[in-house]
Amino acid sequence: MLSKQPLNKTIGTFIPPVRTLMGPGPSDVSPTVLNALARPTLGHLDPLFIDLMDETKALLQYAFQTENKLTMPISAPGSAGMEACIVNLVEPGDKVIVCQNGVFGGRMKENVERCGGIAVMVMAKWGEPNSLAAIENALLENKDAKFVGFVHAETSTGVRNDAQAICKLAKSHGCMTIVDAVTSLGGIELKVDEWQIDAIYSGSQKCLSCVPGLSPVSFSDEAVAKIQNRQSKVQSWFLDMNLIVGYWGQGNSGGKRAYHHTAPVNSLYALHESLRLLHEEGLENAIARHAEKHQKLKNGLAELGLTLLVEENSRLPQLNTVVIPEGVDDASVRGQLLNDYNLEIGAGLGELAGKVWRIGLMGYGASDKNVDFCLSALKQVLK
Ligand SMILES: *Cc1c(COP(=O)(O)O)cnc(C)c1O
Repeated sequence: MLSKQPLNKTIGTFIPPVRTLMGPGPSDVSPTVLNALARPTLGHLDPLFIDLMDETKALLQYAFQTENKLTMPISAPGSAGMEACIVNLVEPGDKVIVCQNGVFGGRMKENVERCGGIAVMVMAKWGEPNSLAAIENALLENKDAKFVGFVHAETSTGVRNDAQAICKLAKSHGCMTIVDAVTSLGGIELKVDEWQIDAIYSGSQKCLSCVPGLSPVSFSDEAVAKIQNRQSKVQSWFLDMNLIVGYWGQGNSGGKRAYHHTAPVNSLYALHESLRLLHEEGLENAIARHAEKHQKLKNGLAELGLTLLVEENSRLPQLNTVVIPEGVDDASVRGQLLNDYNLEIGAGLGELAGKVWRIGLMGYGASDKNVDFCLSALKQVLK
């Protein structure tokens, strides 16, 4: 029942505690990014805001290592970026080879099917990468397939798929590639143009260490041509790239901008700042920092007798799946870390629930300070 009674208590301003976020995302946001968020809101067609949009695009092209003109953030979280790629590209009857080795590949399948596409699944065990041989088999058995979709960094398991090799294989069979880079962008090597990725989506709250709620995407010229030559309208009005370009513009500058939706202005200040920080540090340095902090964490975990689930050559530095030792209570450890140390680590998902912890070292959080803090808190709690 809706009540017309006034609330009988005063509601205070919400002041969250300062936590250290070392789960699967959101990751720790840098103070300068949080400050950017608090700056005065501009109109979403203000020329100064348009300048910020143009710079954001250029910074995203750098982060993705692409010259794709259709590169921009979708005004919604990573899941919407996934949906934007699939809903724009996949038409009813299109066959898509979907690689799954954890939670997120399953969502790709769901999206493909909701667009009337046919998803041909290539499965791998949770904790392992997708096998190139299995993907090649699926390509040989499905010569009419138009796309290969896969997750570069599977956040549910901590596994890195060999994006470069999968794309090469897909392209050699005439397929376009759709890549989930939500957790990979800014954390591990990713080269959209060199690897021939046709559609890619990421998220603001993982290795970019921005606030949640934005999803950078990029489409190759081949993908743009497919979108422009669709037989049917894109079934989502909000995510129709043909309409969104009217607001974000083509290319890096100039052109008239028309209202499509009200951009999340302040969140875009934050994204701009986080991408600026990445550019200032340099992509290669950021990637090297993730690898280095991962090594440090791994060594520290080993000293505590803890092991990682994923084999070394497909391990993600930014998402460490730690095997929960026999006799240790998963929820109680995570609860103690949160309540006594203000430290968040992630639980296992799906098949891995109760079996692993997921420790994120993402973006601003990939630091000596976080690694040391996490190791010492775990040491105390596990005693
Ligand atoms: C987090 C994540 C998503 C979803 O992003 P949201 O911002 O939560 O919608 C998709 N794919 C992967 C690999 C992720 O880690």
